[in-house]
Amino acid sequence: MTPTADVVIVGGGIMGVATAYHLARLGAGRVVVLERNTVCSGSTALASGGIRHRYANRLGVELSTHSIVTYERFEDEFGVDPNFRQHGYLILIATDEELAIARRGVALQESLGVAVQLLAWHARTAHGPRRRSGGHVSSDLSPSSSAE
Ligand SMILES: Cc1cc2nc3c(=O)[nH]c(=O)nc-3n(C[C@H](O)[C@H](O)[C@H](O)COP(=O)(O)OP(=O)(O)OC[C@H]3O[C@@H](n4cnc5c(N)ncnc54)[C@H](O)[C@@H]3O)c2cc1C
Repeated sequence: MTPTADVVIVGGGIMGVATAYHLARLGAGRVVVLERNTVCSGSTALASGGIRHRYANRLGVELSTHSIVTYERFEDEFGVDPNFRQHGYLILIATDEELAIARRGVALQESLGVAVQLLAWHARTAHGPRRRSGGHVSSDLSPSSSAE
């Protein structure tokens, strides 16, 4: 390993390697990533099944929006097919409190250009209407996200 560096990043998860990649592209000099285990051995490896951009804060939504563009172009940029498929991401809402939170989130996400829909779902089962708070179950669908 090189004994000197212009930038040292501790941790080879998605945050560390993405930061290193972009710094290197920007010409930040010798960028070194220190990883105590193996690359992506932390939370990153556990979160590969789905990508959502459905956050209640602007930063989270924008980070995911930029990330999704990267995944869409991943093969062109890195030469590897990441098997990224956009099936949509559905979150069930069972209570009025969750519905109020979802309404605020959807308003924020729409203001940031995310395709998201709040669906009313009057589900009926063999035992009659599935009643939760407010007598309905809603869901929050984001068609351009990916989930498996
Ligand atoms: C099941 C699951 C689902 C998730 N879903 C989503 C999602 O939909 N959207 C989303 O944005 N996020 C999601 N997350 C969260 C996301 O996975 C994490 O926020 C992200 O992976 C964190 O990346 P990281 O690089 O900061 O950390 P990590 O991936 O944990 O990487 C940290 C690395 O640092 C190394 N390290 C730590 N200390 C040292 C040290 N002293 N010296 C050297 N190396 C060190 C570790 O070994 C590790 O490899 C999910 C997480 C989980 C578990």
